[in-house]
Amino acid sequence: MINPLRGMKDLTFEESRRYIHIIDTAVAIAKRYGYSYIETPILEETALFKRSVGNSSDIVNKEMYQFEDKGGYDVCMRPEGTAGVARAFISDKLDRQPIKQKFYYHGPMFRYERPQKGRLREFHQFGCESFGEESVYEDFTIIAMISQIFDALGIGYDLQINSLGCSECMPPYKQNLVSFLADIKGDLCEDCNRRLDTNPIRVLDCKNKSCRLLLSNAPKLINNLCNECDSDFKKLTLLLDHANIRYTIDTNLVRGLDYYNKTAFEFISNEIGSQSAIAGGGRYDRLVEFLDGKPTPAVGFAIGIERIMELVKMPKTLPEGIYLGAMQEEAVELLLSLAVRKRLKTKVTVEYHARSFKSHMKNADKAEAKYVALIGEDELKNGTIWIKDIENREEKTIPVENF
Ligand SMILES: [Zn+2]
Ligand SMILES: [Zn+2]
Repeated sequence: MINPLRGMKDLTFEESRRYIHIIDTAVAIAKRYGYSYIETPILEETALFKRSVGNSSDIVNKEMYQFEDKGGYDVCMRPEGTAGVARAFISDKLDRQPIKQKFYYHGPMFRYERPQKGRLREFHQFGCESFGEESVYEDFTIIAMISQIFDALGIGYDLQINSLGCSECMPPYKQNLVSFLADIKGDLCEDCNRRLDTNPIRVLDCKNKSCRLLLSNAPKLINNLCNECDSDFKKLTLLLDHANIRYTIDTNLVRGLDYYNKTAFEFISNEIGSQSAIAGGGRYDRLVEFLDGKPTPAVGFAIGIERIMELVKMPKTLPEGIYLGAMQEEAVELLLSLAVRKRLKTKVTVEYHARSFKSHMKNADKAEAKYVALIGEDELKNGTIWIKDIENREEKTIPVENF
């Protein structure tokens, strides 16, 4: 017997129903916000992720599904969605067009890490990327969209926001932070010490309790923003206030790559174990340029589907469509051709084998059908069909051609 690979799984029945409901809901809302679907390859050149996700990140260091293909190319299964969409934006020369471009995507992502509950090697994300708009109005709009998606799915969340500044205010802050960290270096954990050299901003992100305590006195970028970043961030908080979207400011919410700037946000759920991010995103105005495209401001986010599958409140399924059954074999042929016609408009279940009234009614119930329609001996002789509205219990016999 062949089983799925470690950390990978099949989605069936209830799980796949949840999955599709999440995607359908998110897609419907993204379309209302003017996003169009983009599909990019799962396999990309490894160099794309090394450059965009960052060589010093855990993803690139340890978790990439990377291999040499038969042609000797260094390739990688995408660990996240933004890099591929930004690459497509550039290779399809969309960065040369003057209009704004907004894309949504969804599909599998791959990270080679130790599988544990809620953490698979193949997992799924829904995400959006908006290119060409530098105004903080777009940051607000994208956050509003995510909150509507979670509201529509019946999922509670805490929104945390921060500003990562810009090329003017981030570097002097970073220097400040590095000299603060140098003093407490000996008391910080191993991870922090490694990050201090490769990516000092990410030290703020450490989940270690004793580190967090030490870092609570660290200088805060939010108090050291340049005028433009400061006024943008204030504008964002005002817009969220006006839209009644609750948030907290988390000064330790960081990204640590140079092309991320200004708005950063995370949606956190308290319902799955310890605080867990169910969506994250922000502004990345320099990524397109970083990947050799024309400088293009951009903002985006991704939602982790597996993380919210348990949380989503599924709508009640209503009875739908018709169940067709025959009391004798000779009528099945007629039912099959009727079914083809009926399926132009509605869901139809045809029972091939059962012949008793009782089992037909039971099967119709199982099929969650709204109507049951049967052809018995009399109906076959008279060219009619018997129909019952299961909920109203109304029944009638009509000519087959009117069915
Ligand atoms: Zn700034
Ligand atoms: Zn630490």
